Amino acid sequence: MSEKLTDVFGIDVFSDAVMVERLPKRIYSALKKTIDEGEELDTNVAEVVANAMKDWAIERGATHYTHWFQPMTGITAEKHDSFISPTTDGKIIMEFSGKELIKGEPDASSFPSGGLRATFEARGYTAWDCTSPAFLREDAAGVTLCIPTAFCSYNGEALDMKTPLLRSMEALNTQALRVLKLFGHTDVKKVNPSVGPEQEYFLIDKSKYLQREDLIFTGRTLFGAMPPKGQELDDHYYGSIKERVASYMKELNVELWKMGVTAKTQHNEVAPAQHELAPIYTTANIATDHNQLVMEYMKKVANRHGLTCLLHEKPFAGVNGSGKHNNWSMQTDTGMNLLNPGKTPNENVQFLLFLSAVLKAVDLHADLLRVAAANPGNDHRLGANEAPPAIISVYIGTQLEDVLNQLINNGEAKNCKHGGWLNVGSHAIPELKKDATDRNRTSPFAFTGNKFEFRMVPSSASIATANTIINTIVADVLCDMADELEKADNFEQAVQELIKRTVCEHKRIVFNGNGYGDAWVEEAARRGLPNIKTMVDSIPALTAEKAITLFEKHKVFSVNELKARAEIMYEDYSKAINIEAKTMINMAYVKYFPAIIGYAGEVAKSINEIRAAVPEADVELQDTLVTEISHLLSKARSAVKHLQALVERAQDMQEGHDKAAFFRDEVIPAMQYLREPIDALELIVDADRWPVPTYGDLLFEI
Ligand code: ADP
Ligand code: MG
Repeated sequence: MSEKLTDVFGIDVFSDAVMVERLPKRIYSALKKTIDEGEELDTNVAEVVANAMKDWAIERGATHYTHWFQPMTGITAEKHDSFISPTTDGKIIMEFSGKELIKGEPDASSFPSGGLRATFEARGYTAWDCTSPAFLREDAAGVTLCIPTAFCSYNGEALDMKTPLLRSMEALNTQALRVLKLFGHTDVKKVNPSVGPEQEYFLIDKSKYLQREDLIFTGRTLFGAMPPKGQELDDHYYGSIKERVASYMKELNVELWKMGVTAKTQHNEVAPAQHELAPIYTTANIATDHNQLVMEYMKKVANRHGLTCLLHEKPFAGVNGSGKHNNWSMQTDTGMNLLNPGKTPNENVQFLLFLSAVLKAVDLHADLLRVAAANPGNDHRLGANEAPPAIISVYIGTQLEDVLNQLINNGEAKNCKHGGWLNVGSHAIPELKKDATDRNRTSPFAFTGNKFEFRMVPSSASIATANTIINTIVADVLCDMADELEKADNFEQAVQELIKRTVCEHKRIVFNGNGYGDAWVEEAARRGLPNIKTMVDSIPALTAEKAITLFEKHKVFSVNELKARAEIMYEDYSKAINIEAKTMINMAYVKYFPAIIGYAGEVAKSINEIRAAVPEADVELQDTLVTEISHLLSKARSAVKHLQALVERAQDMQEGHDKAAFFRDEVIPAMQYLREPIDALELIVDADRWPVPTYGDLLFEI
């Protein structure tokens, strides 16, 4: 652990530097052409690369390789093959061919396909994504060469998160290049979406975790009364990091650095036991792969420290949950950030065009962004005054708002506001340059200087979906813009008019105020912005006519792929709530009821004992306690019966929208009815007899 950062960073990555060193020049430049410019990969090139990769991996102790992919479960999957190949003399040699590098054939039948594949059609293929570097992973299984791959069916339909993401990146590249060409940037060969996801998580003691079936089976607590202290003192946010957590973070960083993940910032978050890690941004597909590694290693390293990492969006009721801030921009291969306003944004026509393109995209497709942020856990957060509201709007800050207003009112923006200087009022503290704009925590889609931050992404989800959607909707607007501008006689004039018109038509999406207030809900309704409150309500957007046209036009999803994804989402939702309900029923019977009945019996017995010893003794406390416990137990009993009946009814329903809606409208409220009496009992029953660790134990004692 004492290694120097520069020595460990990227040592387990088959990086550009390693390729330069190990590949013949001709092979290296051919591969680079594929990576940077999307040229088709020659099988001879793949053969040489595979061999070099194998030698490099074996020198570092690797015995196996795996095609590492991201099925629609949201987590990663892998199938390990060893490099060994038998020889005629009964020995082995280590082999790895170009074919094995490029293509794998995992059995696809046990991954969700949403009907894209019948169960008897098991074939699926993984295909090498050479734009995301291969890396080594070391764990109890030894050292494994991991090859990032896309995963598709026998007919080429995407069965994973990466394939559509890569397709959307191509769409964005194509359309952004068209626009840039009009601005005279003929030197730009590639535009990539750049992404930096900030990942929130909870850390709790593992031995306590193991005593709670709800955490084990569902990732969140289904019961639990609030302890006397929650997050109201604001003393955890950015607080000094506890030793045990600090040593976890240190090891996590080293593990990630070795695999080339640029873990950069770490701090305590708002809720007790909550933390955050952010890497430095990189190309969207690599950022997505890296975020999967971040999540995987957060869990893995926690185990080594006797801790458990919870990535669920809402592990604890009553304190903040976790999300992921997906920072997004567009970057050219020449080093230009297309969302960088520069010092005088009002004069930066190119920036204003790209900015207005994003505004229009978000306004036209707010429903798609909403579904991109939907999972069962996020239903507890969005709109609950700790996360952005479920209404999509864009924060652009006072400086840009002023520029856009000038554009709308005068047809041009003559000036822009500057930040000025901040004087804290003490000579000991230097004067600081102030940003031109403050920040806004409550906005779901906020412009933060030179990038947009999509703040609704669920903490446990892959960021692939969110970025696939952002890339595609922006590509689509850029496509329309390029169509119009390519035809214009006077480009300068046409572009000014286009920006003005776009901003005028879509300025309803801009909102710089408090997104948590009720006033915004009403104002948003007046503006006609959708307020899609739950996951189940968000899913139809995926298969709406508008979405089908959009995704087919840019070859990101076929109509079948969209339908499949919607199916999977309904099913995921129903399954998640079904497991939660069954876990509650089980915990009620085998954990809570026996403990509570035992305690009530003891108190009742003591009443008799005291009365026998001292007939005139006051036993009112014991008396009311037994009465109250019995009353709450009786409530819990009818609640659990009700919940059981609903769960049983759901078993016979067909997967799809109606079943998911049944779980949302019937089962979830029934779960709440069961939770209430149990949580009330937790506050009056002997703590030593309480059968599971409490919120206080979980949140404050690590
Ligand atoms: P803040 O949220 O306070 O602005 P940072 O500036 O550290 O914090 O940015 C948060 C995340 O945004 C980091 O992962 C960072 O690398 C990423 N980021 C910064 N610039 C860009 C960009 N141009 N494109 C995408 N992500 C970016
Ligand atoms: Mg941020």
